[in-house]
Amino acid sequence: MSDVKMWGTEEFWGLGFEWDPQWLLTPSQMDLQSRLMALCESTLRANAVESDADYVYPRRNFEALASLGLLSLIVPKDLGGLGENHTCAAMVVETIARYGCPSTAMCYTMHLGAVAAALLRHHDNARLTDILKRLDAEVLIGTLSYSDPETGSHFWYPISSKAEAYGEGWKVTKKASWTTSGGFADWYIVQTTSPGFAGDYSDLSCFLVMKEEVKANPSEWDGLGLRGNQSGPIQIEGAFLPKDALVGPVGDGAKSNDEVVDPFFLLCSSACWNGISLAVIDIAKRHTTRKTHNDVGMRVADYPTIQDYVGEAIMDTNACRAFDFQMAKALDEVTGNCDWSRHADLDAMPRASVLHWFWQVKFVAAKNVAHVTDKMLHACGGTGYRPALQIERYLRDGKAGWVMGPTNEVLRQFVGKAALLGFGALDYWNKSINERVLANEIKKMDDSAKRALAERLLAEIQPAKVA
Ligand SMILES: Cc1cc2nc3c(=O)[nH]c(=O)nc-3n(C[C@H](O)[C@H](O)[C@H](O)COP(=O)(O)OP(=O)(O)OC[C@H]3O[C@@H](n4cnc5c(N)ncnc54)[C@H](O)[C@@H]3O)c2cc1C
Repeated sequence: MSDVKMWGTEEFWGLGFEWDPQWLLTPSQMDLQSRLMALCESTLRANAVESDADYVYPRRNFEALASLGLLSLIVPKDLGGLGENHTCAAMVVETIARYGCPSTAMCYTMHLGAVAAALLRHHDNARLTDILKRLDAEVLIGTLSYSDPETGSHFWYPISSKAEAYGEGWKVTKKASWTTSGGFADWYIVQTTSPGFAGDYSDLSCFLVMKEEVKANPSEWDGLGLRGNQSGPIQIEGAFLPKDALVGPVGDGAKSNDEVVDPFFLLCSSACWNGISLAVIDIAKRHTTRKTHNDVGMRVADYPTIQDYVGEAIMDTNACRAFDFQMAKALDEVTGNCDWSRHADLDAMPRASVLHWFWQVKFVAAKNVAHVTDKMLHACGGTGYRPALQIERYLRDGKAGWVMGPTNEVLRQFVGKAALLGFGALDYWNKSINERVLANEIKKMDDSAKRALAERLLAEIQPAKVA
């Protein structure tokens, strides 16, 4: 394989391989990377411009990815997939975002998350196994539908959704405020409260829902960036699903979140933000080395200020990439190189043990992309501000990093709170009472306010329960 990074028949105009951690990849992963870069050059990058301008869903890009077997990247070889690992997943998403199309990279991230959720529980499930075998041949795009209109970015708290046992199967209702590929995906992994739900929101279940059951209005999708990603609201209105549309046992949702959905989303979406950061550095290199100021006879790249911008952007971005790839390697290590057969044991949760590291990975990658896209736009001046150079599009795309759940506000609080007060203090499902706050508020009350509160509380208790 050549050490020179190629772009079609020419040498690549951005950063060369000397700035990429190629030593992390196996020879076959490097081969896949180079074939994917060629596909980005011939197909994905041009479609990205159209997706952004006209809100076109990147199905054609998915067809191109399927031609390399990438829809079943992490599906085991005995099911017809490439049998690849977490490191390769991060490389593929970063490559698509950097050289091809960020919207496609995000749709592909959600696809991989859905594939991982299916793989986790496919062992005794013929329906899941069947779909996993057909992903590339039929270009079956999957996605994750979690976020709920009532709870915003707290996507682990699906208040507006429910599922109940019905005949031989299930009746499932889902309202989702955002779903990448909404209305375009062929299959959805959706999270609802469990059948038999009795008020405990940690009791969650996942279902496989095919596109025929999903209502969406893609024409209403609008957004600052990632415009091809089509992350509009969707609804599933009392769909009757067969028994094996349940992904894993009843009540498996929280385990599925911690073991696959969150780790894969955080690993791959971070790779997407890193890919966008690299994409704008590449463009800034091309522009600033080609534009000359004839009064002083200098190229823009000759100014130390511009060199400082680019140097800092490369170092910050490579710190984020190194972190993402290091954690991908950690996942490879704890899972026996992404060996799905281990999950025949429903209690095997190797990825969950390092989930809090992925909160950190996503926070820094999403923070960095906003800074780097901004600085590379500055480095390219007014030309960067105009759509033709495309930095402006990447800047809008990168803005999704901070606000996608878990949002960066939530993540930094998770990390700070868990470090200071312990993981139990995170209280995802709003169950534990903060006695300090309670005691402090009651301390502020006079006797009559306390009496009024006591009377209100007594009135709220069911009469039978009053001693
Ligand atoms: C491009 C894009 C694609 C998406 N794709 C999907 C998808 O495929 N599937 C899916 O399920 N969802 C998806 N989402 C939804 C996403 O994950 C979030 O749920 C969504 O962005 C939250 O938006 P909101 O307006 O509800 O924010 P809100 O939750 O209302 O947040 C508003 C503000 O409050 C802050 N905040 C919220 N909770 C806390 C807290 N506990 N502590 C401190 N601050 C807090 C937030 O950080 C933010 O600053 C997507 C979003 C985008 C932008």
